[in-house]
Amino acid sequence: MKQSDIEFDEEGYQKLPSFLQMAKNFSKEIIKYVSAGSPVVNKEDYEERLEVCNTCPHLIKKKKRCGKCGCYLEHKAKMRTSVCPDTPPRWKWQDPTPQTEAEERSQKVAIEKQEALDAEAKLTSSKIRPSEDGRKTM
Ligand code: SF4
Repeated sequence: MKQSDIEFDEEGYQKLPSFLQMAKNFSKEIIKYVSAGSPVVNKEDYEERLEVCNTCPHLIKKKKRCGKCGCYLEHKAKMRTSVCPDTPPRWKWQDPTPQTEAEERSQKVAIEKQEALDAEAKLTSSKIRPSEDGRKTM
């Protein structure tokens, strides 16, 4: 995206993506983060990410948000699974796989919880059958 392609609001800040798009972006980030065992970057990498954002034309300084994805940068920058949404990404790449035993345990718990939720959803959907009048019943 060229600097001239950026849309600005009446206060001169980059316009945020639509509410629906931000909700999608945020859910994607959270699912990735939790499924990986909630790994966080170290202090130096966190500060480096925020410094990079501080020089980026997409930063909405007043709101401390990224104009590309709409995420709050103080939170997004902590998650090791997060990537800068610019093309090419401005943040350096971080290995999202668990680096400590605690992260590995946390990832295992997240996967087990997701599997339990999937199994429950499958069971619920198999119990829903159409009745004689065509309406779905349990
Ligand atoms: S996350 Fe990337 S695109 Fe967004 S403000 Fe930071 S450097 Fe810019």
